[in-house]
Amino acid sequence: MSVRVRFAPSPTGRLHVGALRTALYDFLFARNQGGVNVLRIEDTDQGRYSHEAEVEFIEALAWAGIEFDEGPHVGGPHAPYRQSERKAAGVYSKWIAQLLDSGKAYKAFDTPEELSEMREYQQINKQQIGYFGGIWREAIPDQVASAEAAGKPFVIRLKVPRGQRIVFEDAIRGRIEWNSDELDDPVLIKGDGMPTYHFAAIVDDHLMGITHVIRGEEWISSAPKHICLIEAFGWEQPIWVHCPVIVGNDGKKLSKRHGATSVLDYRAMGFLPEALANFVALIGWAPGGDREVMPGRELIEAFGLDGLQPSSGRFDFEKLKWMNGNYIRLMSPEELASALIAYISVPWNLEFWSSYVREEGEPSPISGDPLLVAAQLELLDKSYRTDKTYTIDAITLCQERAATLSDFGEACAFFFQDELPMDAKAVEKWFSQEHVPLLFSALLEWVGSLGSSVKVEDCEAFLRGYAEKNGMEKLGPVVHPTRVALTGKTTGPGLFELMSLLGPERMGVRFRRALKVAER
Ligand code: GLU
Repeated sequence: MSVRVRFAPSPTGRLHVGALRTALYDFLFARNQGGVNVLRIEDTDQGRYSHEAEVEFIEALAWAGIEFDEGPHVGGPHAPYRQSERKAAGVYSKWIAQLLDSGKAYKAFDTPEELSEMREYQQINKQQIGYFGGIWREAIPDQVASAEAAGKPFVIRLKVPRGQRIVFEDAIRGRIEWNSDELDDPVLIKGDGMPTYHFAAIVDDHLMGITHVIRGEEWISSAPKHICLIEAFGWEQPIWVHCPVIVGNDGKKLSKRHGATSVLDYRAMGFLPEALANFVALIGWAPGGDREVMPGRELIEAFGLDGLQPSSGRFDFEKLKWMNGNYIRLMSPEELASALIAYISVPWNLEFWSSYVREEGEPSPISGDPLLVAAQLELLDKSYRTDKTYTIDAITLCQERAATLSDFGEACAFFFQDELPMDAKAVEKWFSQEHVPLLFSALLEWVGSLGSSVKVEDCEAFLRGYAEKNGMEKLGPVVHPTRVALTGKTTGPGLFELMSLLGPERMGVRFRRALKVAER
């Protein structure tokens, strides 16, 4: 049996992490098994469906590296892949007719008032709420014919068999059972003739040859209805795989601040698609051993349903940053530079930061000031266009410490501006020390004696020599003010490396400026 899986979203809003994970598991499983991955758009609820949301879903999935072999955007042997189009093409009519003819479904002509009366009655009498038959489940053909002849609106419901055990085997949770008496008769075709999600999904899964249904556990309560429907048709059940929910790091429902953010927002924050996919795959799936960073085909090769965990998965934002940092460090300088330039070229990625408001207690995607990110990244972009080699070297020096692409804005900014913003606290602490003006003068003199470039070792030798000559036991009093003079900050890449990269001319400008401040 060759594996065929489907991701079947109902695009109404943005693509979030939970749905991304389902789509990712479909993709990884299909690729691991040499199977087929289908995208099917479930838009039977036309009031809620949004075309823009579908476009965003497809963009976000493609960005995350999830490929489909069949779908509305790529076509395939089971086209169309949008349920509204399948309805228009008459795909469902034959199947509902079959259920009506075999007495496994029935037309129900209840008016909205009758339905709400039924509900009220059930509430007052503490009965189970739902549609368990009313008068129409067992109505005789004449009754139905005259209601139809009178033009009464109706829905078509499944006649759930009573007094039976409904059993299914879930690949993650094992055997699950229901009593069919607890199931109400679900609507299969709505009053306007549109199929419901339940009906369209089951018919399509069958017609599209779906072998494994991988979805979130919020669909477990619908599973018995799906099984009754499959049995009514006499079809074979697919393998059911209900993935546990994703919770925040505190074990509570995923809130916006813990990761219920849309996938494209993760792109805007500067996460790499491979890193996000790797991270999301591990929420609820254990590859075995202690492997975590699994680039390239490693995820696909390791993926299997047996590694899926029955307990809820935690979304740990710090781990996502850690994962992303790993991927950043796996890149060659050229790859990293082009990823950064591509990232900066998406307008939404920069706009994201100008409207970014960090909520209290929210984990921060970057170490710098969000409101400065856009300008700092633009600086990097401009520098790349005028001096590619210098910019790539600057990026490479910051590669070790960055967690996200957006981090490079703040981390690299000092390379590209001589009129640096200075961290006031750092200036106060280091520039006020007595030895500092002399140190800066010596540095200025040294820089003036150099040619157009200076090696890393020579920068180290000069600073060490200076400390020694002046009887300083530690390098700190030399290194810290120098770093603040050159970068405006107290943290950053290795000092000797950044001195060499800045070169004598830029250092000269900065030491002169720093000396003026220190002499005040
Ligand atoms: N259309 C459903 C959704 O929005 C799909 C559920 C399923 O996979 O069966 O998630």
